[in-house]
Amino acid sequence: MTSLDIAEQLDIATPSPEQAIYPTWPNAEKYHLFVKRDDLLHDKISGNKWRKLKYALTHYSEHHVKSLVSFGGGYSNHLHALSYACNKLDIQLTAMVRGYYAQQLTPMLNDVLAWGTKVEYVDKITYSKRNDATYLEQLRSEYPNAQVVPEGGSQTRALRGVREIIEELQQAYDYILTPVGSGGTMAGLISANCPTKVIGIAALKGPGYLEELVSSLVPESCNNNNWEIHHDAHFGGYAKRDNTLTSFCHDFQKENGFHIEPVYSGKLFYATRNLIQQNWFEPNSRILLIHTGGLQGSRP
Ligand SMILES: *Cc1c(COP(=O)(O)O)cnc(C)c1O
Repeated sequence: MTSLDIAEQLDIATPSPEQAIYPTWPNAEKYHLFVKRDDLLHDKISGNKWRKLKYALTHYSEHHVKSLVSFGGGYSNHLHALSYACNKLDIQLTAMVRGYYAQQLTPMLNDVLAWGTKVEYVDKITYSKRNDATYLEQLRSEYPNAQVVPEGGSQTRALRGVREIIEELQQAYDYILTPVGSGGTMAGLISANCPTKVIGIAALKGPGYLEELVSSLVPESCNNNNWEIHHDAHFGGYAKRDNTLTSFCHDFQKENGFHIEPVYSGKLFYATRNLIQQNWFEPNSRILLIHTGGLQGSRP
């Protein structure tokens, strides 16, 4: 199947809307703020996970790959998206899940089990080997003919789909902001080589580490150095939050009419509000935030 066939079979709603917002944040009136609503692409294949999986799924389909192995936490948006897609495309997925949730399934795990994914629970130490060559060899012998999809779907094959965010844009921007987890989304935006500055907002504690992760995914042929990652809105680490962040997300929804969640998009919008308040951006700039989706992950 071509990428178009796959998008059609999965019922993906591209292009996603690019909408202006007018939040009542201090100084917000000095800028032109827009949001790329990738959260609206699909209700199960969350935002940036579709962007990253699009050409990987096309590749697997063209090469008749019938079995995949991938990784994620108990609330993973990536596993949720991939599991749904595999169910529709008739691919067997095995999910290596960090932590023992068998006695207390999360909403994400309930969904993927219903979609026919085989779930293997692993401890932290095993999970930390998810990119080690020897561990991957072992997985490949346990699951012959399976392809391994890295955590978050972040791999070289993911970048082309992310670049399509840029190709869809209706106007030029001075800054594009995105949350950063496993780095593929930011790497894809950088690899588009547009003159816009790309700013990542770290969703976890990782100064240095995240920059390396993103750089390792950007192709060597790309000389775009116009990017940076901000590390002061992770709220203590991955999926960590406090009442300030929770009420920020709640208030944002009331004011702007759409949801953000505390793991990724909440931190993105919160960091943007702070940068605006500090007059960090050039006056009168056009600023685009990528709403990467992820709302399934915050179901109770
Ligand atoms: C996975 C995810 C991210 C992080 O994207 P990376 O490409 O892994 O850096 C951001 N937002 C949401 C909603 C996600 O699910």
